[in-house]
Amino acid sequence: MTIHLLQTFPMPESCEKALAERFTVHQLHRAAEPDRLLDDVAGSIRAIAGIGVPQALIERLTALEIIANFGVGYDSIDIPTAVARNIRVTNTPDVLSDSVAELAIGLMLSLARRLPQADRYVRNGHWPRGNFPLQREIGGYTLGIVGLGRIGKEIATRAQALKMRVVYHGRTEQIRQPYVFYSDLTQMAREVDWLLVVTPGGSGTEKLISRDVLEALGPEGMFVNVARGTVVDQGALVELLAQGRLGGAALDVFDREPEVPETLRSMENVILSPHQGSATREARDAMGALVVANLDAHFAGRPLLTPVA
Ligand code: NDP
Repeated sequence: MTIHLLQTFPMPESCEKALAERFTVHQLHRAAEPDRLLDDVAGSIRAIAGIGVPQALIERLTALEIIANFGVGYDSIDIPTAVARNIRVTNTPDVLSDSVAELAIGLMLSLARRLPQADRYVRNGHWPRGNFPLQREIGGYTLGIVGLGRIGKEIATRAQALKMRVVYHGRTEQIRQPYVFYSDLTQMAREVDWLLVVTPGGSGTEKLISRDVLEALGPEGMFVNVARGTVVDQGALVELLAQGRLGGAALDVFDREPEVPETLRSMENVILSPHQGSATREARDAMGALVVANLDAHFAGRPLLTPVA
């Protein structure tokens, strides 16, 4: 008998094809009337593939056994509700780390050298009237990474290749890391030139990058967020940038995506990216394959490859 699966988010063609070969797939994100779809199939859904699984959805799916999250960050899944029902949850670590790290470095170079602005300068015909202003290098400066995990380490390796000095903050000091550890985030912010955050989102890291941390980074300091919008006090960030009390920011993630405050959109010392960290063909295909591999393992009674609950 075929297994019914609920898809909640668009996935790469390779993944959707593999899912369709194995399951009867119901696409919630494409449904004209999601409620009616759920009324029809809720009782038969045994698996979810995608992101964004709140408590109300889990509670409605009485036969649900597994949520295969399409991403490494699973802050959009209600884990406590899943655990209470003994529903397994998997994610897609490692396969997207290179993609996110490349974007992080791209954002840093874009901010340091104002690459989008330089491109616009040429396109808008300003060059014949004068040279583009001088900008800053990143080599020789210190990068403080908040969250030296799988992605953080990939960023650190690349930053070192660009001749930056790397230090980090986390809840615990890691052994056998060549980088200086700061237990005090505000102190690290005060002592670095660049502060980059790449922690999980959710309640454990909400506004971890507080007004105090951003103030400590200071008027010459550069802030980069490739984690989640919730990790930074976005109101304070906008205010400090506007007042020149923070040097600049490169942001891939925001508080209420896809909304981005108008003030941020009008600032020249800000680089904006529409949550593109893992948005490469290579990463998305590999993430899709891992989603399918976890589902295969579950329904074959084998251990899950990358369980988080
Ligand atoms: P890991 O679990 O490998 O690393 C997370 C790191 O965050 C760990 O080093 C951990 O260190 C640190 N951390 C966790 N909680 C805190 C805290 N409260 N204070 C300080 N540090 C903390 O995850 P990945 O590197 O694989 O992924 C990290 C995150 O990147 C994802 O959860 C997601 O939010 C984000 N991401 C963003 C993408 C994008 O498109 N922009 C794409 C993919 C991921 P310690 O335990 O020592 O505190």
